[in-house]
Amino acid sequence: MSPDAPPPPLEGKKRRIAVMTSGGDAPGMNGAVRAVVRMSIAQGCEAYAVYEGYEGLVQGGDMIREMKWDDVRGFLSEGGTMIGTARCMSFKERWGRLKAAKNMVVKGIDALIVCGGDGSLTGADLFRSEWPSLMDELVEKKELTAEQVEPFKHLNIVGMVGSIDNDMAMTDATIGCYSSLDRICESVDWIDATAESHQRAFVVEVMGRHCGWLALMAGISCGADFVVIPENPPSGNWEEEMCKVIKKHRDLGKRKTIVIVAEGAIDTNLKKIPCTVIKDLLTNKLHLDTRITTLGHTQRGGSPCAYDRMLATLQGAEAVKAVLEATPSTPSPVISIVENKIVRKPLLEAVKQTQEVAKAIEAKDFARAMSLRDAEFTEYFEAFKITTATVQPQMMLPPEKRMRIGIMHVGAPAAGMNPATRAAVAYCFARGHTPVMIHNGFPGLCRHHDDQPIGAVRDVSWLDAEAWASEGGSEIGTNRGLPSEDIETTAMCFTKYNIQGLFIVGGFEAFRSVSELRKARAYYSSFKIPMVILPATVSNNVPGTEYSLGSDTCLNSLIEYCDVLRQSASSSRRCAFVVETQGGASGYVATITGLSIGAVAVYTPEEGINIKMLDRDIDYLRESFAKDRGQNRAGKIILRNEKASKIYTTEVIAGMIAEEAKGRFECKPAIPGHFQQGNRPSPMDRIRATRFGIKSLQHLETFAEMGKNEIADDPMSTTVIGVVGAKVRFSPMEEVERRGTDWANRRPKDEFWRELKGIVDTLSGRRNLHPVV
Ligand code: ATP
Repeated sequence: MSPDAPPPPLEGKKRRIAVMTSGGDAPGMNGAVRAVVRMSIAQGCEAYAVYEGYEGLVQGGDMIREMKWDDVRGFLSEGGTMIGTARCMSFKERWGRLKAAKNMVVKGIDALIVCGGDGSLTGADLFRSEWPSLMDELVEKKELTAEQVEPFKHLNIVGMVGSIDNDMAMTDATIGCYSSLDRICESVDWIDATAESHQRAFVVEVMGRHCGWLALMAGISCGADFVVIPENPPSGNWEEEMCKVIKKHRDLGKRKTIVIVAEGAIDTNLKKIPCTVIKDLLTNKLHLDTRITTLGHTQRGGSPCAYDRMLATLQGAEAVKAVLEATPSTPSPVISIVENKIVRKPLLEAVKQTQEVAKAIEAKDFARAMSLRDAEFTEYFEAFKITTATVQPQMMLPPEKRMRIGIMHVGAPAAGMNPATRAAVAYCFARGHTPVMIHNGFPGLCRHHDDQPIGAVRDVSWLDAEAWASEGGSEIGTNRGLPSEDIETTAMCFTKYNIQGLFIVGGFEAFRSVSELRKARAYYSSFKIPMVILPATVSNNVPGTEYSLGSDTCLNSLIEYCDVLRQSASSSRRCAFVVETQGGASGYVATITGLSIGAVAVYTPEEGINIKMLDRDIDYLRESFAKDRGQNRAGKIILRNEKASKIYTTEVIAGMIAEEAKGRFECKPAIPGHFQQGNRPSPMDRIRATRFGIKSLQHLETFAEMGKNEIADDPMSTTVIGVVGAKVRFSPMEEVERRGTDWANRRPKDEFWRELKGIVDTLSGRRNLHPVV
């Protein structure tokens, strides 16, 4: 065996992997613990939990406990951390770490997965680097024998970032940050209603001592007027700057004012900016009736959102994989996410870069502080300035570069359509373009041409669009109609309204529409303009992207629905539910919901349903209800995509299971239907809508001075903007249509999430107990 190969199991023993949560609690930590425990067991290892963070490691004994498969049942939907967390001073001392090391050897543990913030991960890395010397010291002090420590020469450490602040470098999101943002946005949405009614101003303080991510994202998501964040303090005369912006918004007709302040807000002299100072300014200078709301610990609480459950689950599974693949010379990794890709990054560097931000702020080097956050953060900051109409006049383009940009929604409504449109409109105003709002999609455009009384092509003001930041559905109306239904009138309308660029927000029909327009360029020169589709559909089935606006909101609605169903079963009697999800011919929604709630089984159109599967799952349900012996009575969920099978409908499956249960448990069908579209867009859908909306318009304007034929010859003139792995990119329609589209099933040919289905099956236990043969 190579000296740098992963260690084999100890003689006759399984490897023991421990997991702990440390630092501040964050929603999703429980999902991480569940995934580590179950994935470890599924990989033939033994799983241990260290209770109360490093305190448990130092104390040892019963604070380090073996975890069995069923011990983590129900963990996914719980907020906080069920294995506890603590701030532990003794682990910062060598004697504390020595005790911790001894406890680990005594328990036979040689791998530790830590879910916490940068402090916790610094401690973990220090522990690993000291490990050989700790082993020597334990032998020297006769606490352990050389034989005892021999099999524990190397310690594996893997980090997972659990923190609501999203303050860690090298990852786009930390476990818990989106749940926390959810809490903040919900509260600000409520505050909005009362602020609007009384024309009041509110100063809302959110968490973030050294990091403004929550404040900035809440500002974008809720259409706040001003944000104050530690990385980019407002200029020396920020008081005047803020009042100017707010006065401008009021003059434009805004009835409410929201200022979001990060807990660690400072001015350029590092002087804290307290909410009271902002309140006094708004009251005395602008004569606004102003209140302060400090959201406090509500931001940490509650059940994790779908994204955090998914992130925690995928990262937990990856952490176990990293442990099993580690060699003595592998640097400790931290499990990160970049856009849509789970990746491993060097833990030490990630921690170092994170700490650099605080140092840069201390040194008043704010440009460096911003640059140390990822590029996306700066992009979001610019987006906030654009949507709040606070950009500098130099952003305005010269007249010859200004365009008339058609904006429309196509397909079924999806959360995120409105915020994307708001961002596009604000961008147009910031640059001098004219937004041409086309109401009710292509049929609306053609009807308008007939001079119907309801005009479908309208002007829009900044204030009109401003209200759409947090609205669900489609304010300008959406329609499934395709241009081919009346291509001639469509072309005529493009000419009549002098549309020089087109921004379409929508689902598969939007994709098909742009494909039709692109092909019709051969006959109609009015289509020789740049066009971008921003995918928006709950089904997440648009080729060219792994993420569509609205899909995150849909997942949140579905997990809420499933959590309620489960709860209802726990108070009555044992019950399984077959829940029918939307998604068209794509199993994305069903699979990711399955991952986020811990479904027993997921049926997708890609795999279909057959009698063997049903037989196996009925057996599995029977066994797992029998094993519960009443201590865990929460309902069990099977997810079935609406098009998974023509014969095995939701009712048929529920009936078959109920019949086979022979009275030992019940089984009911449940169809959430349009509930899945959700109400208000989730924060993720809102912020990505804003970022991608602005990016789309930036792309369109690169064609401003090109001739029609030159545009038509450029493959980048018809694109779909999307997330592809770790990147946000514009993909040329022609290529995506040809290579990436399964037209018959209205979905991408390669669906990135297909490989995740195996994780759902592994973590539910379905794969181990009843492997598909
Ligand atoms: P949060 O982001 O919520 O603050 P955190 O992980 O950064 O999370 P800390 O309080 O900094 O929270 O650290 C948690 C625990 O990690 C500490 O109580 C301590 O036990 C351990 N720890 C932190 N820094 C170190 C260090 N430099 N050396 C050893 N252990 C440390």
